[in-house]
Amino acid sequence: MTTSLLSRRRLLALAAGSLAAPLVARAADDRLDCIVVGAGAAGLAAARALASLGRRFVVVEASGRVGGRAFTDTVAGQPFDAGAAYVHFADRNPWFGIASQFGFRLSDDRGTGFQLYDNGVRVPDTARRNARSGFGRLIQALDSLTPETPDVSMADFAGSLGGDLIEPARRIARMSLGEEPGQVSVRDYARLWSGDDYLVPDGLGRLVERFGQEIPVQRDTVVRRIDWSDGVTVETSRGTLRARAAIVTVSVGVLAAGGIVFSPSLPATTQDAIGGLRMGALTKVAFALDGNRRDWPEAGDLIDTRRGGIDFELWPFDRPLVVATLGGDEARQLVGMGEAAALAETKDLLVSLVGPKARGAIGAGRMAGWSADPWTLGSYSVCLPGQAGARERLAEPVGDRLFFAGEATGGAGEAVGAAMTVGGASLAGVAAVEKLQALLR
Ligand SMILES: Cc1cc2nc3c(=O)[nH]c(=O)nc-3n(C[C@H](O)[C@H](O)[C@H](O)COP(=O)(O)OP(=O)(O)OC[C@H]3O[C@@H](n4cnc5c(N)ncnc54)[C@H](O)[C@@H]3O)c2cc1C
Repeated sequence: MTTSLLSRRRLLALAAGSLAAPLVARAADDRLDCIVVGAGAAGLAAARALASLGRRFVVVEASGRVGGRAFTDTVAGQPFDAGAAYVHFADRNPWFGIASQFGFRLSDDRGTGFQLYDNGVRVPDTARRNARSGFGRLIQALDSLTPETPDVSMADFAGSLGGDLIEPARRIARMSLGEEPGQVSVRDYARLWSGDDYLVPDGLGRLVERFGQEIPVQRDTVVRRIDWSDGVTVETSRGTLRARAAIVTVSVGVLAAGGIVFSPSLPATTQDAIGGLRMGALTKVAFALDGNRRDWPEAGDLIDTRRGGIDFELWPFDRPLVVATLGGDEARQLVGMGEAAALAETKDLLVSLVGPKARGAIGAGRMAGWSADPWTLGSYSVCLPGQAGARERLAEPVGDRLFFAGEATGGAGEAVGAAMTVGGASLAGVAAVEKLQALLR
């Protein structure tokens, strides 16, 4: 394949820059250059790059909003990030610069420490130190993995180092990936980027929404079928669109569930790639609070072992809120109970940690149950054990006209380490435009 004349850095600058070019230029024939499926971070970054290159395109989005899994929801008027919250690995994350471009403040506030509970009982400091040493040993071992390390599950890897590391592996996998450690490729986990992390006090979801503001997005438009036998013919709930190519940014959960039918069927490489990935179930439950911060424990987070491990963040940014986060099979089960029952149980758990007096101060709640959301069917992707190459395989263009891009692929080349994140999704969107541009010239 020819290489693009545009460097990735230049394309990224185009994606982040102001949109001087018309967003959808008039077509000389009736065919667009590209249809972008999905208006999350990947689709919006792809759209901005296409617009800056003067390409003719449309963005179609199934839901009624842009941002996808970056979504700042509210409960009793208080904002919280129901999906992505952190700008991870800031030194190489495009959203670090995009935040300042759009005037969004970033915060590296680490909170005010945490308290640990085992089944509702406060864990003494000695036990806490032991737990911390187990985490430290596991993280060190994961950091020193080499490409030759067998691609086993994180659970097997931890078990091979000692039985005491299995629990830390569960905690890390559930809380950072939303998945059980037996389902996670240790080699994929080890190559994920890390670095300084920042929060966006006004909401990362709002920042992504602002980034997409000038992009015309056909909302409430569900893509049902893509025929890629001659260019692409995209059947949607609001009619059929034709283009030379499509950038498909829907989640692996949607792809695996057959949410979009491809005709002809996708090649074996792409199908294997989709089968080698799985969606985690990171879930958040938020409650509005009445009263004062000083009525609550001083710690920023209360972490209990129940529900597979649940972290209650108290008063984020001094807002009268509690945001609980949990992942893995127990989170899936909680989401499956439905919002009302899940809120009631989560509230009981919180009250058991802070005391019955708090019950009256806990108000309305919201659950972000991504594993039951039909437009995501999970939180973000993990590679199954033995499938560490699945992300690269998914990013391989299909028939020079279908480009899968999103958090599951991360950026191209070594930027696959940005997978699972908002930064990785937008790098992936831009990488797809780069490949497309090389083909369309
Ligand atoms: C609870 C949670 C916490 C997270 N925390 C962080 C974090 O702190 N930092 C971080 O960087 N990342 C985090 N992430 C991950 C991050 O949110 C995602 O990696 C990123 O937002 C994915 O962007 P995307 O564009 O690839 O996909 P999406 O945002 O899912 O965008 C795809 C879009 O496609 C649409 N769509 C689906 N099906 C169709 C269809 N048939 N037709 C048309 N449109 C369709 C969807 O509605 C969606 O808008 C978190 C995710 C969750 C769920």
